[in-house]
Amino acid sequence: AQGYGGAVSKAELGRCTWVLLHTLAAQFPERPTKQQQRDAKELMMLMTRIYPCKECAEHFKQVMKVNPPKTSSGPEFSQWMCQIHNTVNRSIGKPQFPCRRVDVRWGAMDCDGSACDLEGRPIRA
Ligand code: FAD
Repeated sequence: AQGYGGAVSKAELGRCTWVLLHTLAAQFPERPTKQQQRDAKELMMLMTRIYPCKECAEHFKQVMKVNPPKTSSGPEFSQWMCQIHNTVNRSIGKPQFPCRRVDVRWGAMDCDGSACDLEGRPIRA
């Protein structure tokens, strides 16, 4: 659906979810607390249970079993997110994304000052 109204497709749901997940990973602290590490792992585990596309959730569960979340630093979490997205890409015939470019693609947010930042630091626009 473009704008408001219309049914949400599997592709649209997927695109929006990846925007959230990659942005969250790009903003994840360099040195996360134990709680933040647990939260990130839990978020990913929840996706395998309540993501509203049964086929995707089931598939994602298998992907995560082989490659469980790595959350000990922001860069590690971003790279992991890129890898699992690439695993999904491969399984549905989409091109691989070069993970060295993940920060260029997802590192910047369009926000006033530090409004979007988890830790209140100024971020790149
Ligand atoms: P998307 O794959 O949605 O990607 C959005 C943008 O992210 C791209 O335009 C690109 O700029 C960037 N990007 C692409 N790859 C990477 C990467 N590796 N790292 C960083 N950035 C990247 N669809 C199915 O048909 N079957 C499934 O089993 C399935 N499982 C899914 C599981 C999950 C958890 C999610 C979130 C989505 C799943 N989807 C599945 C949806 C699918 O992944 C796509 O979102 C959808 O097909 C739309 O694809 P797209 O071409 O718009 O780009």
